[in-house]
Amino acid sequence: MRLCDMTLRDFRNYKEISLEFDPGVNLIVGDNAQGKTNLLEAIAYLGSGKSFRAQRTGEMVRFGADFAEICGTVYSQERLQTLRWILFSGSKPRQIFRNGAKKKTAGELSGVLSSVLFCPEDLMILKGGGAGRRRLADLALCQLRPNYDAALTEYHRILEQKGRILKDHHENPGILEILPEYNARLCQVGALLISYRARFFEGLGKAAAAYHSQFSGGAEDFTLQYQTVSTVSDPYAPLDKLTEDLLSHLESHYRAELESGQCLTGPHKDDFSVSLSGIDLKAYGSQGQTRTAAISLKLAQRELMGREFSQKPILLLDDVLSELDPARQDFVLNQIQGGQVFITCCEPGRFTKLGKTVQIKKGQIQHG
Ligand code: ATP
Ligand code: MG
Repeated sequence: MRLCDMTLRDFRNYKEISLEFDPGVNLIVGDNAQGKTNLLEAIAYLGSGKSFRAQRTGEMVRFGADFAEICGTVYSQERLQTLRWILFSGSKPRQIFRNGAKKKTAGELSGVLSSVLFCPEDLMILKGGGAGRRRLADLALCQLRPNYDAALTEYHRILEQKGRILKDHHENPGILEILPEYNARLCQVGALLISYRARFFEGLGKAAAAYHSQFSGGAEDFTLQYQTVSTVSDPYAPLDKLTEDLLSHLESHYRAELESGQCLTGPHKDDFSVSLSGIDLKAYGSQGQTRTAAISLKLAQRELMGREFSQKPILLLDDVLSELDPARQDFVLNQIQGGQVFITCCEPGRFTKLGKTVQIKKGQIQHG
């Protein structure tokens, strides 16, 4: 799959821009705050309907504008296709078009244009908090499995409603009557999330282990461990069993949740850990090991998606190459051959021999 061209209107700091891309490496060069990351965000959003940075859709609409538009021509599934999104600054729901026809959900675009983003913060993802790792897994899984995307959205909606019950019950005790209903649904949907995640992490761990082994000259044995709610003894168990396991953990935390006013248990707290030859990376890994493992994870994510859709997803490298030492840079650059890549960096000339260069200044292409 590859992105042939893209037009943005009132997206972030872009009033209007049309770009044509190279099927190989595209280098996006510009000073700080000119719109490089915004461009990658638009590319990722075009294919997935997910932003790796915005909390709300409206954030992506240019200040003062009512709506933003992202359009692109994609070569995928052996034909040219067009994707188009309209995002509103207010509460109006976004609109999605594929080949001119209106679509209800982003899931209907699955497999057309998937992407993997890699940015400097990801280099320390295995040392940081669980939220970053959950985001990584969710962004990948939502693109891989539209049903996961739908389940995740539902899970978060129930979680939010349950959160409100837990906050309001002191003033309005009657509200607790509906809590069991919410808990039951939360566990059902949560079971589905766990089931998808277990399979995803297994594949991701295996693929990442192969990269890490190549990278470390076979010196270290990479293993990834999925961590979920403690009462879940087997994340591959049938959904009924997983639902029961989740309910029993919830029940034992019933009082604690009422007292704290927070949803304390469930797969929204899931995480994963990596160990190298049996040693936990988060606690003991060196900076170099942590970075190497993170690169392996990203390449693995790209490989899984490539296998699933029988075409390589596009790779978005946001400022990450300049953060790497030459050996790691070479490793990444060697591995990414054969697919479409977008690389942002500040210094012109740094990687220009790699492919087409686009210079961005204040949300516009700078010619010459
Ligand atoms: P850096 O090299 O520092 O990472 P960058 O080129 O990646 O910079 P971006 O993150 O793409 O820069 O942001 C460019 C500018 O876009 C920022 O100055 C930001 O204020 C602006 N911006 C973000 N959202 C909007 C919006 N909704 N409307 C208008 N401008 C916006
Ligand atoms: Mg940036």
